[in-house]
Amino acid sequence: MNRFWPASLQSLTPYVPGEQAVSSNTIKLNTNEHALMASDRALAVLHSISADQLRRYPDPVSRQLSETIARRESLSTEHVLVGNGSDEILGFVWQAYLSDASCVPAVPGLTYTFYPVWAQLFGSELAHIPLKADFCLDVTSMSEWEGPLVFPNPNAPTGLAIDRGQIEAILSANLDRLLVIDEAYMGFGAQSAAPLIKHYDNLIVTRSLSKSHALAGLRVGYALGHPELIEGLRRIKDSFNSYPLDAVAQCVANEALSDHEWESQSEAFIASNRHSLASDLESLGFKVLPSQANFVFATHGKASGVSLTQALRTDGILVRSWDSDALRAWVRITVGTPEQQQRLIENLSRILS
Ligand SMILES: *Cc1c(COP(=O)(O)O)cnc(C)c1O
Repeated sequence: MNRFWPASLQSLTPYVPGEQAVSSNTIKLNTNEHALMASDRALAVLHSISADQLRRYPDPVSRQLSETIARRESLSTEHVLVGNGSDEILGFVWQAYLSDASCVPAVPGLTYTFYPVWAQLFGSELAHIPLKADFCLDVTSMSEWEGPLVFPNPNAPTGLAIDRGQIEAILSANLDRLLVIDEAYMGFGAQSAAPLIKHYDNLIVTRSLSKSHALAGLRVGYALGHPELIEGLRRIKDSFNSYPLDAVAQCVANEALSDHEWESQSEAFIASNRHSLASDLESLGFKVLPSQANFVFATHGKASGVSLTQALRTDGILVRSWDSDALRAWVRITVGTPEQQQRLIENLSRILS
């Protein structure tokens, strides 16, 4: 605390990112980074960056990358805004569209814990719509909410997704209500809402290369939406930072999004490892929710998520749990390589016996 801090700064509670400082033989299954290395084609572009590319300012509108994204989605570049990770994009969305107190935005009762931080930073209230008893998003209650809605699909930390028909039902229930879908975990089997953008002007979809493309360190995300919604975000971006994406990130991300062969390998690899992780956990007595992300959310009758996390940590394995009443019983485990998962299961089996 400092005497120059205004009350708004004193009361701010920032987001706490997952633990990163680890030794090289730690098995890191706590922050949903990809189990594979990024596309070789993307890494080759990384190595080819020239001094001249770094000497100059990067393209402020990331034209080539935006074109690649637009082409993938059968949209135009006016439907696309790229940014420094999807967290930055979501911050722009909050500032542009969700901080007007006349309509309170709502998020799911259990969801990404950054949303309340933006609500506080940008001075908006925030409502929570409880999940159903089976942890699924409550499509009916969300459809009835009058203010804007923000939710991840698949949801975090459950990994449960709703399909495009359910999203369209929420969208069409109120065409004057903005829907923001955080697709940070797209690319692991769930259905994207992006094809609805051509038909609905009340939809923003955000994406990230952090999880789907094994590029969390590069910090690239983007928004897709109606050109006027995107133009509003661009106004915020250009009033804050003209160059959110550096030259390296623009080139590497562009190549990663062009390597469709890597993408199909990734999807198959994660689906197969997720399946074996879930069934091995079930054999140890865990209940595991059916995930469409690169993590599983699981609970065991004999040990809390917090106690399992502590026990695994002493064995050099990091997983994620939360010290709150709603979540204490649960643990979230990132899908790893078969070798990492085998060590996890061996350790859990010993801890639980
Ligand atoms: C990881 C994550 C993000 C942030 O992604 P970045 O692009 O790395 O900023 C956003 N939303 C959810 C639900 C996430 O899990």
